[in-house]
Amino acid sequence: MADLARLSINQATTREQYSLAQAITAYSEADVAGISIWRDKLAECGLPEAVRMLGDSNLRVSGLCRGGSFPAIDAAGRQTSLDDNRAAIDEAAALGADCLVLVAGGLPEGSKDLAAAREMIRDGIGAMLPHARANKVPLAIEPLHPMYAADRCAINTLSQALDLCDELGAGVGVAVDVYHLWWDPDLQAQIDRAGSRVVAYHVCDWLVPTTDLLLDRGMMGDGVIDIQQISGWVENTGYNGLIEVEIFSAHNWWKRPGAEVIRVCRERFQEKV
Ligand code: ZN
Repeated sequence: MADLARLSINQATTREQYSLAQAITAYSEADVAGISIWRDKLAECGLPEAVRMLGDSNLRVSGLCRGGSFPAIDAAGRQTSLDDNRAAIDEAAALGADCLVLVAGGLPEGSKDLAAAREMIRDGIGAMLPHARANKVPLAIEPLHPMYAADRCAINTLSQALDLCDELGAGVGVAVDVYHLWWDPDLQAQIDRAGSRVVAYHVCDWLVPTTDLLLDRGMMGDGVIDIQQISGWVENTGYNGLIEVEIFSAHNWWKRPGAEVIRVCRERFQEKV
């Protein structure tokens, strides 16, 4: 039974219904505690306007989505990525976000060298850390399900993400997302290992069957993940931040009225998280 005071909604959950301005208004009116913001929506709104609206609301920003995408075929490509990550850190600082979520990136075009991609990810995060620390923006490495290793994120287990954190030191932690990690037989031990390095916790559910690898996530309670068990493991680390509902659902929830999605998020958050 999660406390509604910790409910944050990732704006991707209502991405087809709302602009950022509309999401801030709708979430606030529904007494949601937090929002996680996407940079494409932020760009449409404009950073100053977003900062102003958030200041007038009670919403806390649980995260900015996203930085990352570090691997590239050449040095120029890697530099472009670093420049973009630097801008993302600046935006996260201006928004007062709890973290910048990193989706690390997959194989560069034409490459089969997964180990090299992972080295580029380590080097990229390492290059960003001084700027992140100076701006007091925690970086959150989000391990993604292995089905995304090629095209989105070559960091696929919590263990891998924590190895990077061990190597890189202060200022970088992990985002634990039940959708990506629920299957891992080592999950409880790795959440224990993460300890205070859990900087974000994301919930949704795994539908059976899943017909679309990207945009078919379920509402909590509609799938097979024992979310409350994982929540218990996360709580045991001492994590007391916002808990973010993040549902990419082109087939269901994006087709429903935003107010209905928010209402069901609130109900299921209390019952299933
Ligand atoms: Zn997530």
